[in-house]
Amino acid sequence: MTESSAPYGTGCFRTTDDGYQLSVTSYQLPVIKAGFGYAQSAQRSKYAEVMPEICSLISVICFMFTITKQFHFSASHIIEGVPAEHPCGRLHGHNYIVELILSAETLDPIGFVADYNDLKPFQALIDRELDHRHLNDVLPGATSAEALAYYLFQKAKPLWPQLASVRVSETPKTWAEYRPG
Ligand SMILES: [Zn+2]
Repeated sequence: MTESSAPYGTGCFRTTDDGYQLSVTSYQLPVIKAGFGYAQSAQRSKYAEVMPEICSLISVICFMFTITKQFHFSASHIIEGVPAEHPCGRLHGHNYIVELILSAETLDPIGFVADYNDLKPFQALIDRELDHRHLNDVLPGATSAEALAYYLFQKAKPLWPQLASVRVSETPKTWAEYRPG
């Protein structure tokens, strides 16, 4: 059973004589539209014995808001440890794209997970520490996109507790992500 008195987007699962029932207020419905489909399916399920687990899963998956903001910088690096003929072992650069993904089960009174404007200091951090630098001189270890995502997550998490993951792109077709398990 999950309950919350938060103003937006929360669901309440409660036990009734007929089984498990999703209880939401009318103004919550628009913001949980996607999740409500799951809930309706679960409500119709005949397998009552698995309903608590299903409802618990639904409360995690369907009642989470996520926002993403992109940041950009350019830098060079050398991937160390690759075979001699590997192109990433040569000095080269990327126009990096970094995404901060923030999530929350409930929204603030304005209706935000976080104000996008409040994320602006992250661009300043990137400009100061990474932009037009050689990443091998900055990062403590590997300079792969994966390692960079982890590095930036550690930098940003204390500033934005809602941070769920960091994604890094080196090329239009490739993305790496760090998300704590
Ligand atoms: Zn590279």
